[in-house]
Amino acid sequence: MEHLPVFLDINGKRTLIVGNGVVAARKADLVLRAGSDLTVVAPELGEELSKLAESYEFRHQATELTAENLNDCVIAFGCAEEDSINQQLCEFAALVKVMVNVPDTTESCDFIMPAVVDRSPLLIAVSSGGSSPLLVRMLKARFETTIPAAYGRLAEFAGSYRDKIKLMIPNGTRRRRFWETMVSGPIAEHLFSNQLEQAESLMESQLEEASVAGDKPPAGEVYLVGTGPGDPDLLTFKALRLMQQTDVVLYDRLIGEGILNLVRRDAERIYVGKLKDNHTVAQEDIGKMLIDLARKGKRVLRLKGGDPFVFGRGGEEIEALSENGIAFQVIPGVTAANGCAAYAGIPLTHRDHAQACVFVTGHEKDGELKLNWESLIQPRQTVVLYMGLTSLGLITSGFIANGADPATPAAVIENGTRAGQRVITGTLESLLDKTTEAEVKSPALIIIGSVVRLRDKLSWFSNKP
Ligand code: SAH
Repeated sequence: MEHLPVFLDINGKRTLIVGNGVVAARKADLVLRAGSDLTVVAPELGEELSKLAESYEFRHQATELTAENLNDCVIAFGCAEEDSINQQLCEFAALVKVMVNVPDTTESCDFIMPAVVDRSPLLIAVSSGGSSPLLVRMLKARFETTIPAAYGRLAEFAGSYRDKIKLMIPNGTRRRRFWETMVSGPIAEHLFSNQLEQAESLMESQLEEASVAGDKPPAGEVYLVGTGPGDPDLLTFKALRLMQQTDVVLYDRLIGEGILNLVRRDAERIYVGKLKDNHTVAQEDIGKMLIDLARKGKRVLRLKGGDPFVFGRGGEEIEALSENGIAFQVIPGVTAANGCAAYAGIPLTHRDHAQACVFVTGHEKDGELKLNWESLIQPRQTVVLYMGLTSLGLITSGFIANGADPATPAAVIENGTRAGQRVITGTLESLLDKTTEAEVKSPALIIIGSVVRLRDKLSWFSNKP
């Protein structure tokens, strides 16, 4: 991050604005709304500032800017039309260590002002660090239209119950659940319709109800969520919703940063990744962790790359849950075969090429591949191999040795759907050499069949970040 977003309490504290144009007036409006004790230094108040003076009190100093003007100031704004005056302000401010903002001149700024969506006490601040004001304006407009004005009322209402809720629902997890239902349920609806009394009485009765449980944790639950092959845009709505209401997340190396960043910020993160031949956390231990956490009342998110039920061992993990009476949900994800095929421009089936498609694992055991060659080598069939990179040589030579045409098209897709996606195409005969030469790394998926040829026409995804 280039800047640290903070919300300053400047109520009753001194701020300084130099200048009297529209920009000065806009900043003045903001700091005055935040209750600041403002001084404006300018030869005269312009039209906008004069209008502001009708609703707010602030000082106007018509004499030249001096270093003393910055005494006891928390922040200052250089909004003068003449650059030299703003520069002068920056110099004075540097001496007395007051932070300055000069609109539209990022290099002279100690801080930048975000675009603000004001639903007080709820505030949304948007900034691009000066890199794209247009994008910021667009996002602000989007928030303005999608966040109802009543959200401010909701935030205020919630704030007024904070202490009482803490007292009546001592268990932290249970309390958070209460908040979640409150802000998205009927209480919020009453507030949105300006029915304060109904909201209050519903709140009181729900609080009574919730307090009966005392300090007991609520029932925990496990969400086994497929996240797709990497591009966060391929998540399902349901996955995203559960990711944002979880208490703890268990993830492994197939889950990229882009997806982890969408998990609720405060959720505890536990890495249970396995590196090949170096199992960091055994499968049974993951199962046990899920059970223990759920028993503590947590909502546990188990993230799986792709789909949890496709070579994901998701079934094994939830078997243990079911045996122990723990509630769970399974959320499907785009499996690597679907994601990689789409992003590589290789249809898995096609009327002219393949009427069937099989997914198999190419994981070898002790240097041996146990594949049913006869079922794989079928006309008009696409074969997709997961976990096959290290055994690619065994796979391609196995196909050929068992009767497949060495000229059968084949592809390896590395980092499918992600910014670094690479697709290597060739034939059963040439693929190994090409892949070795390109130094392809895991995760990589293999597709075998004449559909691979379609990529020449259908490739669309650029791998540039
Ligand atoms: N449950 C997952 C598969 C897990 S097995 C799913 O449904 O996709 C791990 C294998 O999936 C990897 O060895 C690789 O073959 C494949 N894979 C997963 N993500 C991939 C990606 N982004 N690009 C290429 N292959 C991927």
